[in-house]
Amino acid sequence: MLARRLYYILKPYLPRDVRITMRRIVARRVRAKSSTIWPINESTSAPPAGWSGWPDGKKFAVVLTHDVEGPEGVALSRDLAELEMSLGYRSSFNFIPEGTYRVSPELRTWLTSQGFEVGVHDLNHDGHLYSSRDGFSRKAQRINHYIKEWGASGFRAGFMLRNLQWVHQLDINYDASTFDTDPFEPQPDGEGTIFPFWIKTPVLSSGNNHTPAGATHITPTKRGGYCELPYTLPQDSTLFLLLQETTNDIWRRKLDWVAAHGGMVLVNVHPDYLPIQGNSRKSSKTVRDHYADLLRYLSETYGQTYWHALPREMAKFVHANKNQTTPVV
Ligand SMILES: [Zn+2]
Repeated sequence: MLARRLYYILKPYLPRDVRITMRRIVARRVRAKSSTIWPINESTSAPPAGWSGWPDGKKFAVVLTHDVEGPEGVALSRDLAELEMSLGYRSSFNFIPEGTYRVSPELRTWLTSQGFEVGVHDLNHDGHLYSSRDGFSRKAQRINHYIKEWGASGFRAGFMLRNLQWVHQLDINYDASTFDTDPFEPQPDGEGTIFPFWIKTPVLSSGNNHTPAGATHITPTKRGGYCELPYTLPQDSTLFLLLQETTNDIWRRKLDWVAAHGGMVLVNVHPDYLPIQGNSRKSSKTVRDHYADLLRYLSETYGQTYWHALPREMAKFVHANKNQTTPVV
């Protein structure tokens, strides 16, 4: 789309408010064209072949995640964690290791001591993680360093960019850079499922002339692959920053739909955007208000019927059940 391409070309030269205005124009156009696939794409509801359900016979699953984009987000992370704790939830916080801030060991330790999970979000968050194969290999070493140092299990790329073959180079149990349907992202092709799935590391033998494209640097790990966790609720930034929604009706409706189909509700909320109002002329509610309301709605409507898991627990489940969660290709 022309408007989208123009936006990405001009982006580095524009002031923030102009950038947001342009993104809003693009988002409104995408929304108008995507009504049959967003926020719900009916074709994504089928469970994987051989699927035998969630642990303890639960009806669906819920995973809460957060990407921390800048210093404002770091400052609000503890507030967000305490909000979730007060409502009986836990989540993962993904921090950028070499971006515009440094996350303190104290914050990471506090989060994990309270039952939260810490993950790695990109490396620099500059939009160039997958720009070249060699560049990615170098960055993968840095990312693996932080995964080890932080005791992390999972990874999510900035801007939901992805190359699921190259990701095998990361020492992770899961990647969470995909989605069921999200036409607003720079790589807008969805995975087409509301279930987590297992991605097996390609087996390469020496002298093999049929090496998959991009697989030349892959060292098979003991795990033999990784779990992919697509997010299935729209991101807070899409709903409130770009589309300027004044309610969380889309979140609630999508949650109900994923629950009805027994899938995985996975949401990504950025602590950075908690104070934002969708449209301050029409509603004074902030993203924080909408998110707290969503969590209350979830527990009041569905009680104990869903499996609330951290992403690493979900990845462990998928690994243990990989025969049921590997897509048939
Ligand atoms: Zn990000």
